[in-house]
Amino acid sequence: MRLIDSHCHLQADRFGADVDAVVAAARMAGLERILVPGWNAWSCAAALALVERHPWMDAAVGVHPHDAAKVTDAEWAGIAGQATDPRVVAIGETGLDFDRVFSPIPDQLLNLRRNLRLAVEAGKPAILHCRARIGERDAQDALLAEVRAFPGVRPVIHSFSGPVDYATAMLELGAWISISGLAFRRGEEATAEVAALVPADRLLVETDSPFLTPPGGPRGRNEPAAVEITARWVAGRRGLDQVDPAIEASVGNELIAAYDAAFR
Ligand SMILES: [Zn+2]
Repeated sequence: MRLIDSHCHLQADRFGADVDAVVAAARMAGLERILVPGWNAWSCAAALALVERHPWMDAAVGVHPHDAAKVTDAEWAGIAGQATDPRVVAIGETGLDFDRVFSPIPDQLLNLRRNLRLAVEAGKPAILHCRARIGERDAQDALLAEVRAFPGVRPVIHSFSGPVDYATAMLELGAWISISGLAFRRGEEATAEVAALVPADRLLVETDSPFLTPPGGPRGRNEPAAVEITARWVAGRRGLDQVDPAIEASVGNELIAAYDAAFR
């Protein structure tokens, strides 16, 4: 099965000691694309340094909702300056997190808006994180309102979480939807239905490494090679819950095509 990882923080500290081995394992597992998003100033610079060493990978620059209240104006100016770099294929990750609220919500909204504005100006998609508390959808509804306020933005819904009608509303706004190991967690049951209904040309998969290890993945630290677990699960949802090598192969081809349409 051909594989992509549309969202993988390979520049994170937890890969500092052995990133080359992790990248080699990803290649062995069949990964053809990895997108490395930043979340603050240093991680955006580190994403660019990583894709410089691995030209088959892509970078994204932006500010995560967790960092919304921490990034200085000078740091933001630096990130905005990186947006036109040809190695930068998207703006993000940005978005809203009403679950952990590591930055106050008003700061998250201001941060999201300037990231969305930058994405429209740069003509690049916006990679969007969105989490509400289990059973709630306030973050998803707020994100929909923000995206609607920026005509021309091309949303990439990273690590999908939320109800089915949120997915369909985002698809109507032109979004790609990326599915991660979060899909296997309690409270995320709607994602199985979403995985089946997203049009093939809008569907992505990711690990969000080093986070969100899927069941059967590496213990402790998630790695890009584990995207195969999620991709096969997605193929199963699109194939009447059967293990079917032909469906897996065609989903793999579709994932590459959707990635290239979104980012290349
Ligand atoms: Zn992420």
